[in-house]
Amino acid sequence: AKENGKNNFQFYSSTLAIKSSRKMELEMALRKAIQHNELVLYYQPQVNLHTNKIIGFEALLRWIHPTYGFISPEEFIPLAEETNLIFSIGEWVFTQACKQKKKWDALGTPPITMSVNISAKQFQCSELAQIFEKIITDLQLNPNTVELEITESIMQNIDRSIKILNELKKIGFLISIDDFGKGYSSLSYLKHLPIDTLKIDKSFVDDINDPVHKGSLVKAIIDMGQNMNFSVIAEGIEKLDQVHFLVKNNCKMGQGYFYSKPLPKEEVEKLLLRMNDT
Ligand code: C2E
Ligand code: CA
Ligand code: CA
Ligand code: CA
Repeated sequence: AKENGKNNFQFYSSTLAIKSSRKMELEMALRKAIQHNELVLYYQPQVNLHTNKIIGFEALLRWIHPTYGFISPEEFIPLAEETNLIFSIGEWVFTQACKQKKKWDALGTPPITMSVNISAKQFQCSELAQIFEKIITDLQLNPNTVELEITESIMQNIDRSIKILNELKKIGFLISIDDFGKGYSSLSYLKHLPIDTLKIDKSFVDDINDPVHKGSLVKAIIDMGQNMNFSVIAEGIEKLDQVHFLVKNNCKMGQGYFYSKPLPKEEVEKLLLRMNDT
């Protein structure tokens, strides 16, 4: 902290230098990552909390670098946003997830949705909806089984965002608000957006086990979602008592390590084929 004076500042600035050189290296490496096939998608199951059946998957990006090893999306997505690489990465993610969904549909499994994370920065591209429409049209994929996860941060550019969201909705995509409740933005914006789903942020799901909060905010979000006719899904479920609490309070969908970590596509395929057998 600052109060320790000069020494600490030196410590801080040298850390910063290390940080920024790592950042430059990362930026160069990220530029090559797509061409070198270093980016892969993992898929986390989303389940019906009553039946435990899989209802969908969330595509989550992984960067496996030959020398740096595993690099977390928490680290490289912000960098991709800063450097505008998010536009090509975002398009790659969307295309890849849609292709995968198409393949899984062909296995003859029960209907599942595919959720794709869309960065707020991608909404700065006015052709976003047209680009996504072309991709699903080329693949002959039904848009109403593809869910786009956006965060409240798109509201920083509200007029443009609403316009693009309406275009995406008109094509037929499902729209969900990710990390819901974490953005501290006004709730009144919900009325103006074409939203299908609220995704309760993990921090609130954690609160279910908090002796003081006891999941009071989770309850409030579920109630609000019901009143406004949104689907509600809880993320970051790790414990059975959280499942019990969610079911008791009428939350029908969830995802989290309790059910499964994000899986490589081969593992998902095995899961889906097993589902077919039962
Ligand atoms: P997110 O969209 O909120 O995704 C949920 C994160 O929580 C994922 O981390 C997931 O692996 C992790 N998670 C799921 N269940 C549990 C659980 O029970 N416990 C715990 N502790 N964690 C759980 P991941 O994959 O590291 O992704 C981190 C963030 O990076 C994502 O948060 C999302 O904001 C971003 N991200 C990931 N893939 C993409 C992408 O393709 N595009 C964009 N724009 N952002 C992405
Ligand atoms: Ca997400
Ligand atoms: Ca989330
Ligand atoms: Ca999150």
